[in-house]
Amino acid sequence: MIDARGFAVVYGRDLLAGVTGSLDSYLVVAHPEPWALVAPTLAHAPAAVIDAGELTLDHLEQLVATAPDASAVVGIGGGSAMDTAKWLHWRLQRPLYQVPSLPSVNACFTHMIALRDAGGVRYAGDAVPERVLVDFDVMAAAPPALVRGGIGDVLSCHTARHDWQLGVAAGRDHPWDEQAAAMSLAYLDELESLAPRLAAGLDDGVQRLMECHRDIGWRCHELGHARFEEGSEHFFAYAFEEVTGRAIMHGELVTLGVLIMSAVQGNDPERPRRIADASMMRTALADLGISWAEVESSLRRVPSFVEEQRLWYSAANGLVVDDALLSIAREALRFP
Ligand SMILES: [Zn+2]
Repeated sequence: MIDARGFAVVYGRDLLAGVTGSLDSYLVVAHPEPWALVAPTLAHAPAAVIDAGELTLDHLEQLVATAPDASAVVGIGGGSAMDTAKWLHWRLQRPLYQVPSLPSVNACFTHMIALRDAGGVRYAGDAVPERVLVDFDVMAAAPPALVRGGIGDVLSCHTARHDWQLGVAAGRDHPWDEQAAAMSLAYLDELESLAPRLAAGLDDGVQRLMECHRDIGWRCHELGHARFEEGSEHFFAYAFEEVTGRAIMHGELVTLGVLIMSAVQGNDPERPRRIADASMMRTALADLGISWAEVESSLRRVPSFVEEQRLWYSAANGLVVDDALLSIAREALRFP
């Protein structure tokens, strides 16, 4: 297991009952399914339940202006619930408790909020929760495919580390950091070890994956950037969202990016494939409801997208998307 640093976290069951019992009043920001599961266990009802919606500045500021006064903010659900709760906590200056509903949610372990802005993502704010409460019953109630897809934001270290090397060689972006780069590999080792336990639905598979996310969140903050964890696999995912106008589960989409871009990089593509398969996550386009045409048009968009959005230097810069490259991508996705 990774010896993780980062935000205070508790693992167990029925964790929110005790916390809410100690609060006078609290706001909940939630996704409906985990909220329905957790609500009957709480000590008393919240002052308001806010649906986790879009992460635009306008929408979040409207919530700030209309939220009733309360002594704490509780986020329950996926990434947008975590990020909305972080915004309210930061703007209203009220203590924050986070209950992630999937082990894909690194938003509960990061300081900043990922605002959607002009077709891209912009980071703002600064949130530190009192505690992150990882409730195994909440995780177990989530669709298994989405639990397993949680490996995507750790698997991304495989391609991101390689892109970082490319960036350093090109004299672009952040200087190499030996410790962070070494940790990219350590996270991959940990992922390879925990993947079968996540596939089996074991609590410790979830806990070990969350500890990776926690340490990665801490490291991004310390380092001031995420180059060891975010590279061309994410840029593919962002381009996909722009081109298709669709949001696929983040970890699953990023994993597709890792499978494709590791093959494009000539960077041991068998390793992320082996880990993804061991976790029993979905990687077949048919299972994900994604067409090959969507993948192809996203790939064609990536080189111009990274320039326009001024993303870190990576294998996506100057990428020539020709028939040879498309056949590498098809093979990486095992698309017939
Ligand atoms: Zn990510």
